[in-house]
Amino acid sequence: MGSIDSTNVAPSTPSIAEFKPLDAEEFRKEAHRMVDFIADYYKNVENYPVLSQVEPGYLRERLPENAPYLPESLDMIINDIQKDIMPGMTNWMSPNFYAFFPATVSSAAFLGEMLSTALNSVGFTWISSPAATELEMIVMDWFAQMLKLPKSFMFSGTGGGVIQNTTSESILCTIIAARERALDKLGQDNIGKLVCYGSDQTHTMFPKTCRLAGIFPSNIRLVPTTAETDFSIAPEVLRKMVEADVAAGLTPLFLCATLGTTSTTATDPVNALAEIANEFDIWIHVDAAYAGSACICPEFRHYLDGIERVDSLSISPHKWFLAYLDCTCLWVKKPQLLLRALTTNPEYLKNKQSELDKVVDFKNWQIATGRKFRALKLWFILRSYGVANLQSHIRSDVAMAKMFEGFVRSDPRFEVVVPRAFSLVCFRLKPFPGSDVEALNKKLLDKLNSTGRVYMTHTIVGGIYMLRLAVGSSLTEERHVRAVWELIKELANDSLKEA
Ligand SMILES: *Cc1c(COP(=O)(O)O)cnc(C)c1O
Repeated sequence: MGSIDSTNVAPSTPSIAEFKPLDAEEFRKEAHRMVDFIADYYKNVENYPVLSQVEPGYLRERLPENAPYLPESLDMIINDIQKDIMPGMTNWMSPNFYAFFPATVSSAAFLGEMLSTALNSVGFTWISSPAATELEMIVMDWFAQMLKLPKSFMFSGTGGGVIQNTTSESILCTIIAARERALDKLGQDNIGKLVCYGSDQTHTMFPKTCRLAGIFPSNIRLVPTTAETDFSIAPEVLRKMVEADVAAGLTPLFLCATLGTTSTTATDPVNALAEIANEFDIWIHVDAAYAGSACICPEFRHYLDGIERVDSLSISPHKWFLAYLDCTCLWVKKPQLLLRALTTNPEYLKNKQSELDKVVDFKNWQIATGRKFRALKLWFILRSYGVANLQSHIRSDVAMAKMFEGFVRSDPRFEVVVPRAFSLVCFRLKPFPGSDVEALNKKLLDKLNSTGRVYMTHTIVGGIYMLRLAVGSSLTEERHVRAVWELIKELANDSLKEA
C-alpha cells in the first residue's frame, strides 16, 4: 500500500499550493474511467456471487490502519476496489437478486443522478436553486397525473408533493403534521392521548417512526391480520380498536395503510379504511413504497381507489420505478399542515421571494434543511422512457413473477403460500407426514444462497415460514427466472433426500 506514516514525512513533500480537488480536465479523464468501470460491472455482474460470501470483519484485515498521508492514484484505488471491496458486495444489481424488494435502476436515472451530484445544489429555499424547486413541483405533478391522483394532491390543484430520502422520513413528517394539528385542539400536554394505527404487517419503520414523533409506545396499535383477508387490515377490526380507544378517552391520530406489505405484498383496503379514518378525524397515510409504482398501469390502479379520501401517500421510485437510492415521493393534501409543523425561518436564509410567500421552500416540507436536486433523476426517467415504457417495465416484472408462480403451482412438492398480487411470489416446500417443514425450507434457502447463484430471503406470516422470490432487478430476464426455478428444483431434491 502507498500509505506512509505522517511522522516520517517532511512537510514540504506534497505541494499544498498545487492541490486542486476539482479540475475539469482531470475530472473528465477520471470520470470516463469510472464510467467504464461501472459499465463493465453491469456487463459482468453475473460473474460475482449474488450474496457476498465474506466473513464479518473481513475488510479490517485487508486495509491499512491509517488513511494515506500522500495521495494515491485512481489506478491504485480501482485496483483495491476490485481486490477488496467487490468480494464484500452483495450484488443488488445482479439479475439473480430476488431478495427483499429489488432496487430497480436505469441508465436514465443514473444520468440524472450524475447531473444532480455534479450541480451539487442544496435547494432548501426556492432562491437557493429555483430550478431544483420548480422541477420537483412539476415532476411530482406529472407522477401524480400518471397515478390518476386527484387534483387535491397536486400543486396545480390544492395539494403538492415532495421528494424525500425514505418512507420513514416521509411518514415521520406526516405524523408530526397530524400531531401538531391534534395538539392544537387538545393542548400540548396531551400527547399521551394520541394513538397511531398500522397492522402487524406494516413495515417495522412505522412503530419506530411513531416513537420518534413522541407517540407513547403503549399507544401504538398494530391491528392483527389473518390469512382470511390475505393479511390485510379488516376494517371492522380496526373500527373496534378505534372505538375502544375513544371510549377510553384516547384520541385516534394516525393510520398507516399499506399498499404492498413488505412480507407478502398484502394490500390494505384504502377506501374502507379511509371511511373509518374520515369518520374519526384520523390522518390516513398510504404507504405504497414498492407497489405504488404499479398503479401507473390501469389494471393496478384500483388499489388506489378511495385515495381522494386519504391525507397523504408515499411511493419509493428507488424500489420499482427505475430510480437509484434515495427517492421517496410524498404527496399531501394539506401542505399547510406540514408547513405549520416543519417551517423554520432563520435570519441567514431570509430572502425576498420567501418573505412574499410566493414560492415553495422545500426545507419546510422535510426534516433536514439541505437537500439534493433529486427531481432530476425522476425527470430523466419520465422523459427518457415515457409512460408507455414504464408501464411495460412493470408488466414485464409481473409477467416473470407470474411465470414463476406457474412453475411453483405445477410442482406437487411446492405450494404458493399467499396469493401473488405484483411481482413477489411467496412459496414453500409443502409439509408432508413426519417432516419439519420449517427446517426443510430453511435448509433449502441456505443451500440456494450459498451457491452464490441466487439471493432470496424469507418471511414468516401467519406462523408459516416461506421463501420470497421478488422479481424486479433491472437486469433480470425470463431466462434468469427459468434458471432459478431449475436450481430450486435441484436443491429441493437434495433437501428432500436428506430429510
Ligand atoms: C421498503 C419499505 C419501507 C422502507 O422504508 P424506508 O424508510 O424507505 O427504508 C417502508 N414501507 C414499505 C411498505 C416498504 O416496502
